[in-house]
Amino acid sequence: MSADHTDSVPNGDCPHLPNGLPSPARTDDADILAAKTHSLSLQDSSFHSTGRENLTMNGEVPTKEEENRKLLKKTTDSHASLYRQDSDKQLPGLALAYRSIIRGVGEDPNRQGLKKTPDRAAKAMMFFTKGYEEKIEDVLNDAIFDEDHDEMVVVKDIEMFSLCEHHLVPFIGKVSVGYLPNKRVLGLSKVARLVEIYSRRLQVQERLTKQIALAVTEAIAPAGVGVVIEAVHMCMVMRGVQKLNSKTITSCMLGDFREDPKTRDEFLQLIRG
Ligand SMILES: [Zn+2]
Repeated sequence: MSADHTDSVPNGDCPHLPNGLPSPARTDDADILAAKTHSLSLQDSSFHSTGRENLTMNGEVPTKEEENRKLLKKTTDSHASLYRQDSDKQLPGLALAYRSIIRGVGEDPNRQGLKKTPDRAAKAMMFFTKGYEEKIEDVLNDAIFDEDHDEMVVVKDIEMFSLCEHHLVPFIGKVSVGYLPNKRVLGLSKVARLVEIYSRRLQVQERLTKQIALAVTEAIAPAGVGVVIEAVHMCMVMRGVQKLNSKTITSCMLGDFREDPKTRDEFLQLIRG
């Protein structure tokens, strides 16, 4: 992680989910909601388990972690739908905001080359964040298949374009997703669609990683899931440390991928190969 990001999100004070999360219905404060969700995402998006999260994937009585997962998902989905309704209605306001940005940086928004920029930028921003308009359930519902296949399924190097929620500049990279089926598989193209939906939002890489893993878990209850994202953050490349080649790698390992080193290693071999 960049010093930049770790500065703004102290790793040491992740609140416990059930107590720490405001209910989406009771709060209008997107920042609080996002901040809480973000803190949570830091708890387990690395290989080095602290043992704090052991998601139940075997149909046992839901544990606290299981409840957390549901809460988190609910929160992130509500977050998406609360603030994005009709994109056409939001365009004029967004264009006005861009006009103000242009003035704010010391330019003349009426200069010929910039006249249509607010409208264009507003449309572009709506596209960059179109993941807020899509529901995971709608995309996945018709793409879950009963199948006895029990070997690892890996979709690797899925291209990903997202926006860093701290600076509103892009982070770009590749996502690899693997899972061990448990009687059900996911249509392969849908894995890429999942990545698309979650990445086309204001994000932090840690949360994006976790959301993809949880969505796969939610959809097909596999024996295990692994997600690895490798990305370059423009907020690091163009400002801050200005290191052109520094990459941020995040991972989220659940179920067998977390518990069984052999499964995890097989996945890591496959995505590196
Ligand atoms: Zn950033």
